[in-house]
Amino acid sequence: MSVPYDILIIGGGIQGAGCAQAAAAAGYRVAVLEKYDRPGLGTSCKSSKLIHGGLRYLETAQIKLVHECLSERGLLLRNAPHLVKLEPFYIPVYKDSKRKPWMIWLGLALYALLSRKWFSKIPRKKWGELDGLNTKDLLVVYRYHDGQTDDQRLTESVMCSAQQLGAEFISSAELISAQCGAELCEALYRQGDEQKRISAKIIINAAGPWANLVLQRITPRPPQVDMDLVLGTHIIVPGSLEHGMYYMEAPQDQRAVFVLSWSDGILVGTTETAFHGSPDQVEPPESDIEYLIEVYNHYFQNTICRSDVKRAFAGLRVLPTGGDAFSRSRDIMIHSDATNPQVVTVYGGKLTAYRATGERVIKLVKPRLPERAQRADVKHLRLP
Ligand SMILES: Cc1cc2nc3c(=O)[nH]c(=O)nc-3n(C[C@H](O)[C@H](O)[C@H](O)COP(=O)(O)OP(=O)(O)OC[C@H]3O[C@@H](n4cnc5c(N)ncnc54)[C@H](O)[C@@H]3O)c2cc1C
Repeated sequence: MSVPYDILIIGGGIQGAGCAQAAAAAGYRVAVLEKYDRPGLGTSCKSSKLIHGGLRYLETAQIKLVHECLSERGLLLRNAPHLVKLEPFYIPVYKDSKRKPWMIWLGLALYALLSRKWFSKIPRKKWGELDGLNTKDLLVVYRYHDGQTDDQRLTESVMCSAQQLGAEFISSAELISAQCGAELCEALYRQGDEQKRISAKIIINAAGPWANLVLQRITPRPPQVDMDLVLGTHIIVPGSLEHGMYYMEAPQDQRAVFVLSWSDGILVGTTETAFHGSPDQVEPPESDIEYLIEVYNHYFQNTICRSDVKRAFAGLRVLPTGGDAFSRSRDIMIHSDATNPQVVTVYGGKLTAYRATGERVIKLVKPRLPERAQRADVKHLRLP
């Protein structure tokens, strides 16, 4: 029988990749099971593609999260300059905007203090250059900077870094069941027509929106944390933004919506729609698409209609239950329980903070694992 791994990770999204990188860097023998054939094809390719502190989380006083994400943004700009770029973002404030100019100024000032990158005001005479932005009743336009990435490429790159440090990535491999004893968890997975076995001392469940479904496959079954799945849609419309990205207040409900340069068009998103189905069947609802078209048309002169939408995609946020989605915590939840202490589950979190999440998870499982010699310090590791 093959030598057991120290850590078996379920899920090759950004959080699984981040945990694999941190585990391999710490010297552990680690394997990742991913049911798709490549990393990052679950939620991690459906994000808004921002490497950001999350300016809007300041509104709900998530200052620790914003601070952590901004320092992770700094590390990514240094360690992955080919994948993460700092871009200008514009915030137009109108007469009827819910967030008044002083509020935005205050938020940006705090954001600037946390990120050590100042913001500015665009002179009125330059408003006409802003990609066809409506200027009627416009009071002020602020400009600040945040990061943008290709989320799927970033996930592949982090997984590749983990592999370079010795991790094994097993693709097209779906966990079917796992049985944990005092020392070891024996897992069974499906790869094509075959069923295979793999064993490890610790299981890290990084299955994103599937996390609670994965827990149901593990014996003894760890209690699951009740989480809500909230669907976020993006649309891609034709055109290009010459000056930067835009941070808008949706006229329908005053939520923050981004209008971003992306690939072959303009990316508009996102929404927050309660989701009760299977994470395997996530489609952008027509009402979400209409909502995003309305936001775009409210702010830009070159209006679009449904047939202009080139593509739409949707992903699922994993959020703590209760309250409206907009104000719920976006921080990661790392959960383990005495029922089966060999299993650690990672719920939610930000793409931006994957490295910090990986570090926290590995710190948590370290006391249950043998001593290993560290191979690298991920903080200073350039991504491939
Ligand atoms: C609409 C939206 C916009 C967002 N925008 C941003 C943003 O701009 N910036 C930011 O920082 N964060 C953003 N986020 C948050 C971030 O994208 C997610 O938190 C992150 O991608 C989740 O990664 P994950 O690895 O937990 O999940 P996933 O990427 O879903 O990975 C889980 C993986 O587990 C696999 N899996 C499931 N079950 C099994 C099984 N039984 N066996 C094997 N494999 C299995 C799945 O195939 C999947 O690949 C956004 C989230 C959403 C939904």
